Amino acid sequence: MIKYIADIIKGIISLMEGLLVTLKHVFRKPITLQYPEQRPDISLRFRGRLAMPIDPATKDNRCTACMICVRACPNHSIECEKIVGEDGKPKPKPASYTYNMGSCIYCNLCVESCPFFAIIMSDEYETGTEDKASLTMDLAAEKYELKGKKAAWWGSKFKTEG
Ligand code: SF4
Ligand code: SF4
Repeated sequence: MIKYIADIIKGIISLMEGLLVTLKHVFRKPITLQYPEQRPDISLRFRGRLAMPIDPATKDNRCTACMICVRACPNHSIECEKIVGEDGKPKPKPASYTYNMGSCIYCNLCVESCPFFAIIMSDEYETGTEDKASLTMDLAAEKYELKGKKAAWWGSKFKTEG
């Protein structure tokens, strides 16, 4: 009889413990978002598709067409053509900078290798498309405007390094 009553008490305690866990979760701040109405706060380290932002100081991109990123890319996702001057000599500016998002593996090696902070993995994550051609883009012609905290972070890199 005593064992029977002890088992009932144990059962009630176990039930209360379970209910406490449920109650704790009912009043907890939600960790899910109602996407797409609600958007996540993107981390600075997030790797969206590659971009060549416009430097606000010069209103131009920072690329010198040095080709270091082209050689660093393990997937041959970047092609860069230099501007050719009237003297027939190549100039340190890109005539085109072709990025193939379809073959990019978002490894960031191009960004890390660029000595001029000319490219960055952007915040853009809604890049799904049925149009294969749109995966290839000329970043030099794009005039990409970096915004938000990533813009401040990117700008601080080359300002502090002079
Ligand atoms: S992130 Fe990697 S794969 Fe993509 S373009 Fe840069 S180096 Fe190439
Ligand atoms: S993005 Fe950077 S590494 Fe690539 S060609 Fe331009 S300056 Fe050179």
